[in-house]
Amino acid sequence: MVKNTITTKTNKAEFLILPRLNEILVKREASFANKPTDPRRRHVIYIKNKLALIREAVMNAKVNNQDKVVIPQCGFLSDKVLSKYSFKTHTKFGKVKKLTTHETSTITMSKRKKYLSWEEYFIAIAQVCSLRSKDPNTQVGVVIVNHRKEIAATGYNGLPWGLSDDNYPYEREGKWLETKYPYMVHAEANAIIHARQNCEGFILYTTLFPCHECAKLIIQCGIKQVFYSSDKHHEKLETIAAKKMLDDAGIIYASIFPLTMVIKGL
Ligand SMILES: [Zn+2]
Repeated sequence: MVKNTITTKTNKAEFLILPRLNEILVKREASFANKPTDPRRRHVIYIKNKLALIREAVMNAKVNNQDKVVIPQCGFLSDKVLSKYSFKTHTKFGKVKKLTTHETSTITMSKRKKYLSWEEYFIAIAQVCSLRSKDPNTQVGVVIVNHRKEIAATGYNGLPWGLSDDNYPYEREGKWLETKYPYMVHAEANAIIHARQNCEGFILYTTLFPCHECAKLIIQCGIKQVFYSSDKHHEKLETIAAKKMLDDAGIIYASIFPLTMVIKGL
């Protein structure tokens, strides 16, 4: 991969790490290539998604003057994760000593060490959104974020606009018309509708992995990444169908830990 075609625009960190990531992916894919029905191919998709997220972070990475590759602070990218992708090699740039998500500073008054990553920030807001839900069993919150990390919309699961929360059932079992299912709008659908704009390339944060219906909306409105903090329905057919469609549509999804928050009065 070391070629003389590097221009001044090429990010050194990107150049150093991406070939290694590609190498990992190619090896994983090759190992299952002869068995297209092998269930482990799903793992390849998982790795692919993970690497795509890392790849994006690497695009913004920098190499400092101690030959440390510094990846911007990122929820899913701990130093431990990065160490897997570290490699000891000499290139025309010299040896990369360390991959890190933060840079040590010589400035006396440095920035706070503990602050929310963007991913933590948005999932925390999604968690707060879920608290608006009147559903006694399932509360889901969603935040849609644009390229500039601005919130395009939020949503939670609830009845359509104007319908009284007191006139509809919240049951999960019984006659269909007497359950909540015909009436509830899912959090993802509400957020996508509230965005009232093209969501091409946007990121969706949700407290619960999207169902198959919401997965279709996510694909149709152009969202490219989904972060979720719970996948408790992973065995349900709705979730399996959702993952199949998201995979086929090339939408990256990754889990993120929910934040522990105490909100008084609830
Ligand atoms: Zn849904």
